[in-house]
Parts: sequence; C-alpha cells; structure tokens
Amino acid sequence: MLELKNLQTFYGNIQALKGVSIEISEGEIITLIGANGAGKTTTLMSVCGIVPPRTGEILFMGQPIHKLTPNLIVSLGISQVPEGRRIFPYLTVRENLDMGAFLRTDKDGIKQDMEYIFELFPILAERRHQAGGTLSGGEQQMLAISRALMARPRLLLMDEPSLGLAPLVVKQIFEIIRKVNTENNTTIFLVEQNANLALKVAHRGYVMETGRITLADSAEKLLADEKVKKAYLGL
Ligand code: ATP
Repeated sequence: MLELKNLQTFYGNIQALKGVSIEISEGEIITLIGANGAGKTTTLMSVCGIVPPRTGEILFMGQPIHKLTPNLIVSLGISQVPEGRRIFPYLTVRENLDMGAFLRTDKDGIKQDMEYIFELFPILAERRHQAGGTLSGGEQQMLAISRALMARPRLLLMDEPSLGLAPLVVKQIFEIIRKVNTENNTTIFLVEQNANLALKVAHRGYVMETGRITLADSAEKLLADEKVKKAYLGL
C-alpha cells in the first residue's frame, strides 16, 4: 500500500532522514520506534507532504505521491493524527470533526462516519457541543484520531498517540487503534516512543536511529530482540 524508497529529507542543511525505506501492506499496523530526534516525525511529515523528501520516492497504491501537496495526499486516502494532537481548541467537538471531512462532498457518508465515531467514542458524542480545548488530554487524543478518521482514510498516520497521557487512557487509545484496524480495515503507520505498547499492537516494526532504519522485523521478533529490549523496552 505504501512504499518509502531511500528517502533523504532535510531541514535546511540538517539531514534528518538518511535513506529511509519502509513498506506497508494493506491491513497492517506498522510501528516505527526510536529515540528522541531519530527522525520518526520527519518520516510521517515526508509521507503527508509537509516536509517532502529531497531525494527518494514515496508510492501509495503504486502511485508516486512525494511531489504532491498535503491536501491532494489527504484526498488520496492518507490522513494524520499529529504529535501533540493539535485539535482546534475554540471549535466544538462537532466542528473539529467537520474539519476532518473538509475535502469530502458525500454528505451521507460523512453522517455515517460521524455516527461510527460517536459509537467508538461515546464521550465525544456526549461532548459534541463543547469546545475542544476544554476536553481532557485523553479526550483530545480521541478527538484528534476521530478528526483524522473523518477523512475516511485508507492509511492512518499516527504520531506518538500515547504522549503525555495517563496509563489507563493510553491502554484505551491502543485498544481503539486495534479496533480501527480490524473493524474499519484501516491500515495504520504508528510512530511511538512507547515501544512496548506499540510492538504489542503492531504486526511489524522498524527501528530508527539517527535518520536510518537499523532493524526491521515482525513485532513478535522485535519484542524478543536483545538489542531492542535493552535500548527501547527498558529490560
Ligand atoms: P521525537 O520523538 O522527539 O519527536 P523524532 O524521532 O520524531 O523525535 P524528528 O522530530 O523527526 O525526530 O527529528 C529528526 C531530526 O530533525 C532531529 O535532529 C531534529 O532536531 C531535526 N528537526 C526536526 N524538526 C526540525 C525543524 N523544524 N528544523 C530543523 N531541524 C529539525
């Protein structure tokens, strides 16, 4: 479904990605783990067209997308849940969800998806008229995921969904990630520092160090890998 081929991405003279190649098949949950500053966020930003790669290729369903604008990339079926959630604090929950469907014109489909989201997150249904900024951190994360789902993506990019949340809420968010993948058939590319949880929910994983992929394997094998255990699982 998604193929990253030898991406090199820069911020001015700083090279953040030094030849990154990743493949994701339809229906998979893939996780990208690594330390602070390894280049995980940059990888997602390259896919969604916000920080396009200087060299390399990105193919989505076989079509090159690395030269397309972010809104075109969304319209093809890729949407992102950004790091730090970035919901619209002064808009209501309902308005935040409408923003996620901004590029869509199928009113019936939009209504259907909103109903699905309110089933998935009953708390958002209860708070639909409340300003996004008044929600708790966990609820804002739910809203950010829901807003991305309102674009009806085939591929969902998620950047550190567990960041800054209480353990119980994190558990809930990861259950939702699994549910969106299995029930909604959405492919998920998950960036996480919480390697333990991410590898438990994912089918396969990639480990990134200073702009390079250093390991790629099934999530099961990575969880048992001595180097991964020591560096990322605190074991
Ligand atoms: P974190 O987990 O802290 O978000 P990360 O693995 O997502 O880290 P990136 O945010 O992709 O890492 O950063 C990769 C490298 O690019 C780092 O060296 C970082 O300092 C640099 N970088 C990121 N954003 C910018 C920017 N806007 N301008 C300049 N350098 C940047």
